[in-house]
Amino acid sequence: MPTASGYAAAAAKAPLGPFSFERRELRPNDVAIKILYCGVCHSDIHQARDEWGGGVFPMVPGHEITGRVTAVGGAVKKFKSGDLAGVGCLVDSCMQCDNCRAGFQQHCERGASLTYNGREQGTGAPTYGGYSDHIVVREEFTLRITHPEKDLAAVAPLLCAGITTYNPLVRWGAGPGKRVGVVGLGGLGHMALKLAHSMGAEVVQFTSSKNKIADAKRLGADRVVLSSDAAAMAAERNRFDFILDTVSAPHDMNTYLNLLRRAGVMTIVGVPEKPLEIAAFSLILGDRVLAGSAIGGLPATQDMLDYCAAHNIVSDIEIIPIQQINTAYERVVKSDVKYRFVIDLASLSPRG
Ligand code: NAP
Ligand code: ZN
Repeated sequence: MPTASGYAAAAAKAPLGPFSFERRELRPNDVAIKILYCGVCHSDIHQARDEWGGGVFPMVPGHEITGRVTAVGGAVKKFKSGDLAGVGCLVDSCMQCDNCRAGFQQHCERGASLTYNGREQGTGAPTYGGYSDHIVVREEFTLRITHPEKDLAAVAPLLCAGITTYNPLVRWGAGPGKRVGVVGLGGLGHMALKLAHSMGAEVVQFTSSKNKIADAKRLGADRVVLSSDAAAMAAERNRFDFILDTVSAPHDMNTYLNLLRRAGVMTIVGVPEKPLEIAAFSLILGDRVLAGSAIGGLPATQDMLDYCAAHNIVSDIEIIPIQQINTAYERVVKSDVKYRFVIDLASLSPRG
């Protein structure tokens, strides 16, 4: 089997370090990809630190992958060697159940195979993610990239941060005439802001970081509200059609629910370590709706990539060598990244 090199957390909360492991031999419907870039999602940190429990270690995180196809199995039709390709949060699913057939592979009734911290279909072997030099993925789970090649690093975060925010914005009709709030200006939040703005919605960014206000405006916010400013928050009550909450840490959701207009919808995509508390009145008053959203299926992910390519949308990134991954994690936890770290995998080997 082909040997891969990457970075892994050997155990929960252990710092990441070099790790060698086996990738499977190419099956007829597999695509082999040399990984060029991989985004650093806050979910990588939650899982490498086992904040959600049940982590499979050693863990090679990374589910925002872009690279170049190096080989394809005999039955592969959509990709050939040399093509650019992307891999997001999923590498396989049963493809038979109702959810898979409807294109919602993330909700596979038999359990989808996550790109890392998951299990392969059939064999049950652990999956290893994009902090590595190559990956082998079933064709149906490989995404086409139509952005210019020079954007490949900045496209990587679209594979998770992009689809996770695009899906609920589309589902709840963000567009002209709609007032959309985005809570948290991190990896997901800055994509939500760019996407909602591009869809023609009026977008208000909520942030706990004063030093991000100017950036939020540059990224497309019509207005920016500092969440610690009680008067400014009170002035926003009962005004929003839709709010997307991307915050990764415990926070008061009721404050944001109270900003929804009658029958307005708030979707949670952030996954804090501990449960969030909701006061019944925050929903009852105003007939408000609270929803959730998990990444996206393969058809929606391809739609999102094509939409972003057509609208010149990429992520704002800071490129790092893999050797800086542990420092990058610390900075993400402190909300100190503008706005996504992306690993340049050429740093894994001195010759690239
Ligand atoms: P991130 O880059 O760390 O962004 C999170 C943002 O939340 C921060 O930039 C910060 O924004 C705000 N924040 C952090 N701590 C806060 C606190 N204590 N109080 C208030 N605001 C705080 O993380 P990300 O990669 O965007 O991921 C966000 C969350 O979504 C994570 O929990 C991740 O696991 C989850 N996620 C979910 C899905 C899904 O399918 N649902 C997919 C991917 C990720 P400001 O500085 O602007 O306040
Ligand atoms: Zn992610």
